[in-house]
Amino acid sequence: MSENHQVLFRKYRPQFFRDVIYQDLAVGSLQNAFKSKKIGHAYIFIGPRGVGKTTIARILAKRLNCENPDGVEPCNECTSCLEITKGNSNDVFEIDAASNSGVDNIRELRENVKFNAMGGKYRVYILDEVHMLSGAAFNALLKTLEEPPAHVVFILATTEYHKIPETILSRCQDFHFRKVPVTVLQNYIETLCTKEGLKYDTEGLFWIAKKGDGSVRDTLSFMEQAVIFTDGNLTGVKLRKMIGYHGIDTFTDFFNQLIDSSQSAQIFETLENLFQAGIDLGKFIWDFIEFLNSLLLIKDNLADRESINIPQEDLQKLKQNYRELDREILVLLAERIFSIHEKLNLMKLRSSYEMKVYLEIQFRKLILDREKPSVSGLLAKISELTKLVQGDISALPDNVEQVKKQIPSQTASISTNQKDPKLAGSQTTNETQVSAKQKVESQSNVNGNLETNAMTQKTLESNKAQPSANPTSSEEEMEKLLKEKFSGMEVDPNQFKNL
Ligand SMILES: [Zn+2]
Repeated sequence: MSENHQVLFRKYRPQFFRDVIYQDLAVGSLQNAFKSKKIGHAYIFIGPRGVGKTTIARILAKRLNCENPDGVEPCNECTSCLEITKGNSNDVFEIDAASNSGVDNIRELRENVKFNAMGGKYRVYILDEVHMLSGAAFNALLKTLEEPPAHVVFILATTEYHKIPETILSRCQDFHFRKVPVTVLQNYIETLCTKEGLKYDTEGLFWIAKKGDGSVRDTLSFMEQAVIFTDGNLTGVKLRKMIGYHGIDTFTDFFNQLIDSSQSAQIFETLENLFQAGIDLGKFIWDFIEFLNSLLLIKDNLADRESINIPQEDLQKLKQNYRELDREILVLLAERIFSIHEKLNLMKLRSSYEMKVYLEIQFRKLILDREKPSVSGLLAKISELTKLVQGDISALPDNVEQVKKQIPSQTASISTNQKDPKLAGSQTTNETQVSAKQKVESQSNVNGNLETNAMTQKTLESNKAQPSANPTSSEEEMEKLLKEKFSGMEVDPNQFKNL
């Protein structure tokens, strides 16, 4: 398999600039250099793995030494071109800096650059993974870059730009390579399928392109495996099986089980079925987190083939059915499941059975949290009651007026009468005095209650500010207390606020 595995990637490795996909910026600049005959002595190719850095370095080396170049392209037919393609040119040196990172390796290189090119015009040094060089090796390289012999061209390639010393960068022309988008990869492998006579469908190609994660090399490597696994039939159904994608229905079912309390018991059935089928439960949970995130992206109109791991057909289904979901519920649920997954990783459980037990406990807890009346539900109720009580107070002046009518005119007002010295000798009747006094006491009680409520609310809010995954005992006590206090009242469980 490993022999075949290399074949596809090597077979379709671009030999001309024009065959390289998606790196127009870098390729265009290099072609312009040939057009204007301004060849630099040091280039640095920066970008993720497998997007064509080494491939383009070789095409550049070929074009530099080509005996019959065709405009900006090498001929790929002359001795020099053929030798470079085969990897046995005496003028092109590919050095893996990761395994030749020492200063001695670079010193040796410095000795070699003095010699003239054997067959071609240039000696080309391609230093792959150049960020792996030691500090001393970089210094040694710098001396060569400062005064390069006219017949030498350096092509440095790296995936980690920030690890290259500024002194080196300042002496190189930099070219940036980009990750290849899924759609571009998908179109590219479709042309390969046609050339290879492979059967395929859009979803099958989508999964292969997705697996490549922006890298042409990785895409073709995975395609090679997929051809073997599916016996040359690259369909979505077969690819799903190969990569262990459960299909959108599994996730939507699981999601419904989590948000609908009447389906809670089925959560455990789902986990058991996955376990029995030998599915990696950790991966399932991660995929489910991705699914929730996709739902959020759909809400924000940010979901497309590049941003999410869901085939086009499934994406359409989700857009139709889940766009109206409550964002808060989604975020809370995603956070909760994420924390379960995080703990799962930390625990380093020994077997899939232990993993299943752990998940069962965690999901049981999640269901319990979901179903008990939430603190925020009670808070909403308190706020309602507070408004109600405040409404009573605002109604007070009317009552006061009524009381005043019963009280002789000397009584200025109920709220100030205790402070008013004139009232000390007032001729109010005992009856009205008692009535007024009761009212004042009643008002005072109302104020007292309000203060208590305000304090309760404050305490609750401060409790709520703490991480809610594990309700503190004080939170539980408070909840118990409030339940007693408001027993008989209808309290909105506001379920997911409690997750
Ligand atoms: Zn040639």
